[in-house]
Amino acid sequence: MRKKLVIGNWKMYFNTSQSSHLLHRLQERIEAHNDVEVALAASFLVLQPLSLQIDRRKFKLAAQNCYWQDEGAFTGEISATMLHDLVEYVIVGHSERRHVFNETDDEIAKKVSAVLRNGMTPVLCVGETAGERKDGETKQVLHDQLMVDLKNVTAEDLSDLIIAYEPVWAIGTGSYAKPHQVEEAVKTIRLNVSESFGADAESGLRVLYGGSVEPDTTRGYFTINGVDGLLVGGASLNYDQFSRIVSAVHETMNE
Ligand code: PEP
Repeated sequence: MRKKLVIGNWKMYFNTSQSSHLLHRLQERIEAHNDVEVALAASFLVLQPLSLQIDRRKFKLAAQNCYWQDEGAFTGEISATMLHDLVEYVIVGHSERRHVFNETDDEIAKKVSAVLRNGMTPVLCVGETAGERKDGETKQVLHDQLMVDLKNVTAEDLSDLIIAYEPVWAIGTGSYAKPHQVEEAVKTIRLNVSESFGADAESGLRVLYGGSVEPDTTRGYFTINGVDGLLVGGASLNYDQFSRIVSAVHETMNE
């Protein structure tokens, strides 16, 4: 069975002491659940101090990005090799990277390879813009992103890879996708993966939903066939909201 996963994306928020404080509150509030993994995607700067403080029975660490070369004259970049002993997951191709920093699918494909090569799990984000959805292009956009982003990946790699369906129009907007929209998109993602890598590889793949998830909407996503978890941005910045999301996941699974 695919293990459920909730990732909190802290984006570019919190300095070292604020991050440490939030982790402390979360550790007080969230219990270790065998059936739900929880990962915290903090900024590069605070991963090292958090790694000394984190209760590994409850949380894993994730990075929000990385560079695809292992080392070299790339001023200002952080490589997957440098992250290797700090985090289990690396978010790749987040919509803010694609749209604010103009990351291309070719670059994202190289990052996916770098994360796998360095023994971590990429969390590949894909999703359509509001305009693309309005024009009926969602399926095509997901197909096109996946075909390029996964071009260096093998069927065996897929058990070590996570795809997050994150419609751009739902990220940080408060306007979340309805469960039937998520169900349809996740079906498309799984179908594309199955056609390219085979049904066995697809059955081991974890797919998350992300986009304005809040405690009250958590349950609706967790009952969708093919959804294995959530990528949570804004609500993960608040310990009470994030803890309630994790509890809702746990409760839904034990109903
Ligand atoms: C995200 O950052 O991946 C995200 C889903 O953000 P939010 O929950 O704020 O929409």
